[in-house]
Amino acid sequence: MKIHFLNVGHGDMTLVEVCGKNILIDCYISEENYALDSIRKIFNNKIIDYLFITHLHDDHITGLEELVNDGFDIKNIFESGYREKDSKQKVYKYALDLFRKKSAIKLVASEEKINLDPDFSFYCYNSNNGMNDIHYNSLVIKIEENNHSVLFAGDTNCEVWQEEIIPNFRYCINADILHASHHGSRSFFYCNNDEPNEVFSYKEHMKAIAPFYTIISAKRKDDVEEDWPPHNDAVELYKKYTKKSVLITGEEDNITLDLDEDIYNISETEKNLLTNDSITSQFDFVPEEYPFVTISKHSKPWCLYG
Ligand SMILES: [Zn+2]
Repeated sequence: MKIHFLNVGHGDMTLVEVCGKNILIDCYISEENYALDSIRKIFNNKIIDYLFITHLHDDHITGLEELVNDGFDIKNIFESGYREKDSKQKVYKYALDLFRKKSAIKLVASEEKINLDPDFSFYCYNSNNGMNDIHYNSLVIKIEENNHSVLFAGDTNCEVWQEEIIPNFRYCINADILHASHHGSRSFFYCNNDEPNEVFSYKEHMKAIAPFYTIISAKRKDDVEEDWPPHNDAVELYKKYTKKSVLITGEEDNITLDLDEDIYNISETEKNLLTNDSITSQFDFVPEEYPFVTISKHSKPWCLYG
């Protein structure tokens, strides 16, 4: 499985190549971010077998029209079913039209694995919960191939993790790679707009996910508008609960993680140890080198690097 986290500025656009399928999670193409060049290069057959839209904010759906006009064939769409009232944005309307045209499937949170074909499956751990808050209803999905997995947290907030996701899925949500929530916002760690204070931050989700790598899709820290993510206190918490490293697309540019089955397979016993409640034991267990992931970083434009 290869995962390409594109550096799109403040937004999300992640490409996954698994079992010969092309998967796109969210779409944020703008004139400044070269994302269209990158996806043309990586999905060069112009097929998107599965498109996941975590939620209908513009930094997750802008550019769907450009993709289709460029000749990309989107075969299947998954979404949460949550609708914003009164959104008049053009990109929002385009996304809804596309959902209708492609008979998009509304996912329901469940422990059950969703098998799409003999080789590829995923899990949905959060979807439309009926709350009147778009981030509470953002999709959370995990894509798994053999022993390796990547969890996409969408723009979920602390409240939904505390009230829904962790109570229901604590023992199955662990993943090798975490795509951080909401561009590294502190809203993942502080509920009800609590003042940032590490003592009162919510950390149960990070203990349960126990990622080796966390990727934050956001602008570089010195390039964000005041009070926009990534927030320093949130990045520090991600670092504390991530076993190898935390990378920010704005700092590194496009990031590719190549999860190689042959190099290192984590056993079930090891997995159980790693999801144990005590964070100390997790760190104790991690091998010095954990070589199943090869990381490469690509400066723009992508096409120069092949
Ligand atoms: Zn967002």
